[in-house]
Amino acid sequence: MSLRVHFPYVGGVNPTHSVPQGEKVYEGKAKIIYRAPSGHYLHYFKDSATAFNAQKKAEFDGKGELNLAMSTAIFEFLGAQGIPTHFIKKIDARSFETLALKMLPVEVVVRNRMAGSLAKRLQEKEGAEFNPPLLEWYLKDDAKGDPQVSEDLLVTYYKQAPADLKRSKELALRVNELLQPLFLKAGLILADFKLEFGTDDKGEIRLADEFSPDNSRLWDEKTKEKFDKDRFRFDLGDLLTGYREVWTRLQKALK
Ligand code: C5P
Repeated sequence: MSLRVHFPYVGGVNPTHSVPQGEKVYEGKAKIIYRAPSGHYLHYFKDSATAFNAQKKAEFDGKGELNLAMSTAIFEFLGAQGIPTHFIKKIDARSFETLALKMLPVEVVVRNRMAGSLAKRLQEKEGAEFNPPLLEWYLKDDAKGDPQVSEDLLVTYYKQAPADLKRSKELALRVNELLQPLFLKAGLILADFKLEFGTDDKGEIRLADEFSPDNSRLWDEKTKEKFDKDRFRFDLGDLLTGYREVWTRLQKALK
């Protein structure tokens, strides 16, 4: 099912992972999804980083491994806390195996702080706290620039089942309740994040995709230094230094 190859790495060869073989289901900006013979999905984490709907792109040696490690740790943590996820198991340093969900065509953003596109749109300074958190829906459609949509529009025009949206919203807020204190233990403010959901073969909504500094904003609790993809978006510092800091702190907080 998988072909072990050596990837050229700066300073030598990295034998820690393989490229999954099988039907390529989807290639995104940071991941490739293959269908395994079992019917499950294999998610291969790439080293690419993109921003502003892929107008800005770069490669970072080792980013895929870091995001795979962080996503695995977060899915295991959330699963243990009763959140249904797509995660089955880690395969190697770059890939994990998941259930093959039928994805909802939406991205769910949870915001604990004013930041990012919201701060830009409202011309507000970053940082204000939202308590309770805000929840927003975006259409998963790169060609349209992932437009923001209301729950009503998702039901009436995009024919999404109200019960699926209700459950996704409930799970997204519960994920926030679980991750906020975890990151705080790591000295990090979880300013916002994006989640994706899908249904399994029983029609149950499960958390899918990944959780990493690619799809979240994580600020140092004291200095407010950004350790997430905003480093790359706005040239705030080395991306990998930020991601490594998150991973080091997260591992300690999970102990
Ligand atoms: O850009 P914006 O402020 O709307 O992003 C909110 C959160 O969702 C951020 O953590 C960002 O990294 C994440 N996001 C994402 N994928 C997108 C859009 C936003 O992971 N397509």
